[in-house]
Parts: sequence; structure tokens; C-alpha cells
Amino acid sequence: MSTAHEITYRCPYCGRDFTITVYDSVNAVTDPDLRERCISGDLFRHSCPHCKTDFMIQNPLVYSDPSRKFLLWLSNEEASEDLCRMAQPLVKQGYTLRRCGTLQEFTEKIQIFEDGISDIVVELAKYDSFIEFIDTRNGNPEEVTSVEYQKCEDGVMKINVRTDDKGLSFLIPTAMLEEEVRVQSDRYEADNSHFPRINSDWLISLFTETAGEA
Ligand SMILES: [Zn+2]
Repeated sequence: MSTAHEITYRCPYCGRDFTITVYDSVNAVTDPDLRERCISGDLFRHSCPHCKTDFMIQNPLVYSDPSRKFLLWLSNEEASEDLCRMAQPLVKQGYTLRRCGTLQEFTEKIQIFEDGISDIVVELAKYDSFIEFIDTRNGNPEEVTSVEYQKCEDGVMKINVRTDDKGLSFLIPTAMLEEEVRVQSDRYEADNSHFPRINSDWLISLFTETAGEA
């Protein structure tokens, strides 16, 4: 079941108040329409009835998908002790728990886990794509605006490296990276119990730690 509450919101553009519905939790299985509104971003898009301005509000949200066993905490803040405690039974059931700091991370995670692959493998693929863009395509790292997961089909991930005026797509097979994660499971382990945030910063922090030890 999904839960929501209404709040009075002051429009940042015209300063007038109106009521909006804010979701606290979304269950992708019981509410497939809400799942779609999460992926499209519509759930966070609001329109002021007074001045008609559209804007996004990223409220904290717990997104669960029991059929694929993952739970996402969308928030700028770390998961609270209460939330971690409540989620412990799910960790035991084999759920993947993640925190997403941005809407972009949030929608990407939904897609990755719906595709049935590991987001750690995806982060390695994004990193490899970024390096290939710079090393073999002579790309300028400062021009890269984002590195995004697009899809995974027949064991091959499609990763897009975007710049302001163009973008390049890379096809990365999952098998080799899955093997790398398996062989170095200590290094790439993510502790589900505290909703880790798995993104490029996380991966780079692993590389930096290793360099420090060497
Ligand atoms: Zn307004």
C-alpha cells in the first residue's frame, strides 16, 4: 500500500498558498500507476493554481518493489535509525536497500533493478565508459555533463556519456564486470542495512581508499 498526506504549500513564485498531495511511500506492486508517475517524475511535479507555474518538489519518499525485492529511500538525508530498524526484516529477506539523493538517481535505480542487474556493476560500467570516452575518443572530461544508464539487453548494458552538444553511447557486457565484483566482493560490498548511496562518488571513494592503502 502507498501512503500520502496533504500539505499547504507556498508558491515560491507568487507567494500564495495552495494544497498539494505529497507521497510518503509508494508500493510499485499494489500501485502500478504511482510507479509510472515515479519513473516519469510526474509524482514530484506540481503546478501553482494561482500563477500556473510548474515546479518540482522532491519530498522524502520510500519506494518499495516487493516483486523485485528492492527498497529506495529518496532523500538528501541519510536514512534514520527508525527507518533502518523497520527495514531490517527486508534485509534478511534479501532485499537491496539504497538511498537516492536526486530524482535522476532515483529513476535510474528503478530501471536498473527492474532490469534485474546490480547497480554496482552499472557504476563500474559507467566509469569504464567515462574513461573510454576520454582515452580513446579524446573526449574532454570537463565537457561531460552526465553518465547515464539506459538499458540492459542480452547481457549488454547501454551507457550514455553526455556533453552539452553531443553524446556517445557505449555497449558494455555485464559478465566481465559481474565477475570483477564477485572476485573482489570485499571491496565492492555495500551494506544494505543502512541504505547506502551507490553512485559515481561512492565508486571513486573506493578507488581512492585503495590508492591510499597501496
Ligand atoms: Zn504561484
